[in-house]
Amino acid sequence: MANTSKNNRWPRKKRLIHIGFVAAASLLLLVGVESYRDTIRVAEAAAARKHSFEVRGLLSDMAARLVDAETGQRGFLLTGDDAYLEPYHAAMKSIDQVLAELKNSTADNPVQQKHVPELEQLIDKKLAELQRTIDLRKQNGLAAANAIVLGGEGKRYMDQIRSLLADMQNEEDRVRAFRAVEMTDALNRSTRIVVAGNLLSASILVVIFALLFRALSQRKRAQEGLEKSEKWLSTTLASIGDAVIATDMNGAVSFMNPIAESLTGWTLDDARGKSMDLVFDIVNKETRRPVENPVKKVFREGKVVGLADHTILLSKSGKEFDIEDSAAPITANTGAALGVVLVFRDITDKKFAEQETSRQKDLFQLILSTVTDGVVVADTNGKFLLFNAAAEQFIGVGAVDQSPDQWSQQYGTFRPDGVTPFLSNELPLVRAMNGESVDAIEVLVRNANHPESRLLSITGRPLKGEDGSLKGGVVVLHDITERKRAEVIMLHAKEQAERTSQFKDQFLSTMSHELRTPLNAVLGFSDLLADERYGPLTEKQRRYINHIHTGGKHLLSLISDILDLSKIEAGRMELALESLSVQSAFAEVLSVMQPLADKKSQQLSANVEPGLAVRADSTRFKQVLMNLLGNAVKFTPNGGRIELAARPIGGGIRVEVRDNGPGIPPAEQQRIFEAFYRLRESGKKSEGTGLGLAITQRLVELHGGQLGLDSQLGQGSCFHFTLPTAPALRETLARKIEIATKSTAPARVLVIEDDRITAQLIQSQLVSAGYQVTLCEEPQRALEIAAQLQPSAITLDIVMKPKNGWEVLVQLKRDPRTAGIPLIVVSIVDQPSMGTLLGADEYLVKPVDKTTLLGAIARHARPRSDATPGQPILVVEDDTPTREFIAEMLSAQGYVVATAADGVEARAQVAASLPELVILDMMLPQVSGFELLGEWRASLRTAALPVFVLTSKDLSQEEQHYLRTHAEVLLHKQQPWHEALIKQLERVVTPRPMEKV
Ligand code: ADP
Repeated sequence: MANTSKNNRWPRKKRLIHIGFVAAASLLLLVGVESYRDTIRVAEAAAARKHSFEVRGLLSDMAARLVDAETGQRGFLLTGDDAYLEPYHAAMKSIDQVLAELKNSTADNPVQQKHVPELEQLIDKKLAELQRTIDLRKQNGLAAANAIVLGGEGKRYMDQIRSLLADMQNEEDRVRAFRAVEMTDALNRSTRIVVAGNLLSASILVVIFALLFRALSQRKRAQEGLEKSEKWLSTTLASIGDAVIATDMNGAVSFMNPIAESLTGWTLDDARGKSMDLVFDIVNKETRRPVENPVKKVFREGKVVGLADHTILLSKSGKEFDIEDSAAPITANTGAALGVVLVFRDITDKKFAEQETSRQKDLFQLILSTVTDGVVVADTNGKFLLFNAAAEQFIGVGAVDQSPDQWSQQYGTFRPDGVTPFLSNELPLVRAMNGESVDAIEVLVRNANHPESRLLSITGRPLKGEDGSLKGGVVVLHDITERKRAEVIMLHAKEQAERTSQFKDQFLSTMSHELRTPLNAVLGFSDLLADERYGPLTEKQRRYINHIHTGGKHLLSLISDILDLSKIEAGRMELALESLSVQSAFAEVLSVMQPLADKKSQQLSANVEPGLAVRADSTRFKQVLMNLLGNAVKFTPNGGRIELAARPIGGGIRVEVRDNGPGIPPAEQQRIFEAFYRLRESGKKSEGTGLGLAITQRLVELHGGQLGLDSQLGQGSCFHFTLPTAPALRETLARKIEIATKSTAPARVLVIEDDRITAQLIQSQLVSAGYQVTLCEEPQRALEIAAQLQPSAITLDIVMKPKNGWEVLVQLKRDPRTAGIPLIVVSIVDQPSMGTLLGADEYLVKPVDKTTLLGAIARHARPRSDATPGQPILVVEDDTPTREFIAEMLSAQGYVVATAADGVEARAQVAASLPELVILDMMLPQVSGFELLGEWRASLRTAALPVFVLTSKDLSQEEQHYLRTHAEVLLHKQQPWHEALIKQLERVVTPRPMEKV
């Protein structure tokens, strides 16, 4: 806009400048002409003045001649001397000449012209008078001549001449004065004209100059602007994201920017002047046929053209680009065509992205139409954006136009009870549209299309834009009608199964009890009979008793195995995982197996580093070892070698049971782990159930291990498994056994604790359980007190001052006087491994409940007993044969025995008189063994009464824990217990010599 008005202004200015120039020039010319004319006038006036001076001179000359003539005449007249006439004659001669000159000179002046004849007449008359007088003098002498002179005529003439000459001189003066004025006027005028004209033209020139200056600076600015925009344009074209090629009118390349260079593979220098067809080589993407060059099209159509889709640019370098372009004519301001500009870009990536988007869209559609879940999306106004087939099928109605508050009615939505309508504004989609996330909302749908309601589980999420703004909501519908139905059925089935399983459990445990009890009697009595205690046996009788015993043992182990297996299968086998010393477990198992191995002259060895500990359930770990070792002993021929080994491997401990027996054929190596599977040969020769390995394998798996087998026929077998390592333990077994020695002295516990309240708490707990307690509140004196007191056990706190528990512990364990005293750490510091390392026998972390504390003390300390020596061992057992058998067995060992057939009887007997020890069955009619044990432990009198639990009950973890804490010994009837019982008794009670019954 601004440019156009400037452009309009420019010619007007130019015209103005032209006019100014002409005006100034004309003015100057005019001034010249005028001043020339004035100069001429001045010159004329000057000439006229000069002329007038000449005329004046002539007039004066005339007067002088006349005087000269008169003077000569007078001289002559007076003297008569002719010499005086000389001036007269000279005057006479020049007067005519002067007169002629005068006539001539005044020809231009009419006033003087009139005077000249008059002057001529008067001069003639004067001259005539003079002549006459001269003549008279000559002729008539002086007098005559004088007379005429005196007559005065000559004088008159002379006066008249003088007056006329004066007039004429005046006239000339007047003429000169006039001319002088004229000259001054002309000069003034000329000056004025020159000054005014020059001023005017100077002003015009100044204006023109100003205009020109402005025009020039505008032009300069325009020029600069043009240069700048040209530079800008070329930079822009070079840096523009699109490729640009310009051609001249012949279609030859005149410009290319760098992008065009890189896409075409041509450099501008190479391409300049080349045909566009050559540089911009394009083909159709599908047909690969050449496509008309857009530049040609522009030349033909004279307007902007775009390129058809699917065009590919073949670069000189052999590359191909999907391109998009447009071409436009380049036209000058004048409208003249200058060439064509072609703009194009590489859309390979864009095309790829488009294809990808469309592919994803198709895929998305495909997924939505195929997913079995319903998907519904609505914007914040409730306009449906998506309603997939599954959703429509679940609901029975697709997208509707109604506003969200109508939806509940429209779709027929209810709460899962099928009666309460689902409020529209609480529908998952509406909540999601409002920005809420909802999960698994159950909505029942019942409408004309689904008269039988469908139950949907709906999860909704708000739909958010990239900026986090709410765009709507999306819900995923899951038809759970069938699932719910199935769930109900499943629930019934599960309850049924649980009932069945409960029944099975109960059945098995009752069965096992019912079977074991008589079996125990069978085994016990057959044992007693075999001892020939009641008279000698014949060979046949001995054989038969042996059969009874073997059959009974087989049955007993079969029952235990079946129970174990069914427990494992039902997932009811609970493990009490603890840190177990491998060495002690090996020792225990070996001690049991040694007699069997000895019978077969087998060499039984254990190979284990001391201090190795595994994380395992003690009973089950030993069961596993027992099973494997039992098999090895059983299947290895006499004189064979059997080794039990353990070593650290990776993060665990590998346990191996190796024999040099017959080995297991590869084909059978998998099958032997199946329940009831036995190898034919071995099965015939040895007794067994075929359940051992099945149980062992599952037990190892329960511990997180894997039971493996390496075996070659004739080369022996190696069963192995790996269990997780546990922190190293100090060997405490030996001391534990050693502590529980026979004594009747009251047990004294030394409590080392600097916190008075804690000390009193421990003290009262111990005192209530029948211990004597000595408190030590000064840890620095602990060693001294302990050495002097020799208590049955010590409890030790760790956080104490001035000496901490660790130091005290080390001191006590180093000093030979106190090293043997069982030491139980009771501390808030949870570092049992440190405690064990330093020699603590037990490590309890505060807060410690009473049962745990007493359990620990009971395990380690010498139990206090008020029982008088000679008191009997009370056998509490409801099964008569078993009771009788135990009594018989104990009596045979020299113990005094009393019996109770049920809980009530046992309670009464203990109340009446404290026995030496109680052997207690847990499953008793009326009052159970647990109840009895609880009662006895709660009473001060019986708190320390030694109780050996002997039961056939399948104990739960809690029950086992309880019994371990509160009973001295726990024996299971399902395992060989006879010898164990006798051994344990020997440690606690001294048998007295008795008469044989
Ligand atoms: P059982 O010992 O009651 O027969 P197991 O399940 O413990 O049942 O063992 C299954 C079978 O695997 C055994 O019958 C025996 O044939 C074979 N077997 C187990 N351990 C060994 C071994 N150490 N050497 C040879 N054969 C063995």
